[in-house]
Parts: sequence; C-alpha cells; structure tokens
Amino acid sequence: MMEGEVEPACKQAAVDYLQTALSADPGIKGGEASAPDLAARLAARGMDARPAGTLQAMLPRGEASALEVVYPQYGGLTASLTDASVMLVANQYRVAVGRRDVETLSSTFDVRLQRQAKAWAVTEVIPVSSPAAVAGTPSPAAMSVLAHPGILLPGAARADLLSGAIDDRVSEALLALAQRWKLHVQVIRSGHPINVFATDRVSNHTRGRAVDIWSIDDVPVIDHSTSAWRSVMQAALQVSREVGGPQKIGAGSFTDHVHQDHVHVGFD
Ligand SMILES: [Zn+2]
Repeated sequence: MMEGEVEPACKQAAVDYLQTALSADPGIKGGEASAPDLAARLAARGMDARPAGTLQAMLPRGEASALEVVYPQYGGLTASLTDASVMLVANQYRVAVGRRDVETLSSTFDVRLQRQAKAWAVTEVIPVSSPAAVAGTPSPAAMSVLAHPGILLPGAARADLLSGAIDDRVSEALLALAQRWKLHVQVIRSGHPINVFATDRVSNHTRGRAVDIWSIDDVPVIDHSTSAWRSVMQAALQVSREVGGPQKIGAGSFTDHVHQDHVHVGFD
C-alpha cells in the first residue's frame, strides 16, 4: 500500500495510530466487560494518547473493535515535509462481547501529524462517522451518483450527497468520468481539512465543490505507471479548471506533494 508514496512513514504512522486506538478486545472480568483502555494501548506503543480523546465514543463499553483501513490519502502535506493531514477511510467492525452480530461502520478520519525529531507523531484526530440519518434533499444528479455502481463512496461522502450540500457540478463530473472508469472516491466534503492545508484559504471541498478520487479501475492513483490518472485528468479538464494530480498536464491543472495519490476535481 505504501509503495511509491511521498513520505510513506507519515501515512504509516497515521494508520498505526488509528489501528492501535480502535483495536479493542475488552474481554470479561468478574462477569462484567471492562472498559476499553485506549490510552493504555497507545501508551504501550509509545504513542501520545491525548489526540485519541475524539475516538473514545467509537469504542462502546463491552464491545470488541477492529479497524480495516481502505486507503490513507493526503489531505495536506507541507512542501517542507514537516506537517501533514492524512485522510483515512476505514471500516470499523464492532461486536458486543458474547454476541455474534458484527456492526460495520464506514468512517473517515482527518489525522494531523508533525515530524518530530525523525519520526512522525499524531497531533490531532478528527473523526467523521457516517450518521444513521441525514437531513436534506439530494438533487437528481446527487441521487444518480449515489445509485451508480461504478462510483464507490465511503459513508461520509454518501452522507454529503444525501445532505444536498454538494454542488451539482461535482456530481455531473463524477457521472461523466464514470462513463469510462470505475472510481473510488476518498472524500467530497466531510473529512477534508476546512482550509487548504497550512493556508487560510477555505478549501472548495468545504464548500461542497470538489471531490478526490484515489483509485481508477481498481488501480490506486499512486501507482503512477499503471493508473489511468492522466486520462482522467484530461477528461476532468473538459469540465473543470481546478484539476490536481500527479503531474501538471496543461492549463487548469496543478500538482504538488499532496496530489501524488489522488485526482482532485474542483469548481469555483
Ligand atoms: Zn481535493
């Protein structure tokens, strides 16, 4: 998963942190399930437990939990390679002790990291759990994206579309690209840093006007030599003037460290 990545140690640190925090096996002590001790697990691995306070609610008392990371994509990475946001899409599996029915939750996490001495350390974790019910009215275009078998959406992105908060140009761009490619979406609105990372400019994601695609026809964009990222960027430039990806390929496109692992399509 980490091959070819910019700063693979940074993404690995984010994955390790979440998997440590959210892998719980409470067991039974004295006939009663013990509270999952997230802080102790992190401390045992030399990790700072403070940023994990936001995760406690994802570990109900008496439930075992395991986390499967779908993909960790950059939400930001400074040019100096010292500060990062890794947006992780993951499935959390939970089962109450003594039960067999497993509950699966699709969650997106914005994990902030800093390079301290030689290692990357997690400084903040902002989770987005997909809500059971979403208020709002999705447009016909958003409904078409939700129903499309070739557009794979994590829970947070589904909730964004259901809420009616996503610009139809985003939905129409996805539908146009999906005529030729199978697309795995990482993030639309929820789960993305509010500002363009390390700037005071509000991201077009926050306005519901951008989407990040991390995999094309089941090949991750980070596999630069085999992924169809260039063709997808070219097709996206037919409708958008804000297309990010592994290389700048002409007017309206851009690249940087962050966009080595996904194609960004945004609208002003
Ligand atoms: Zn983006």
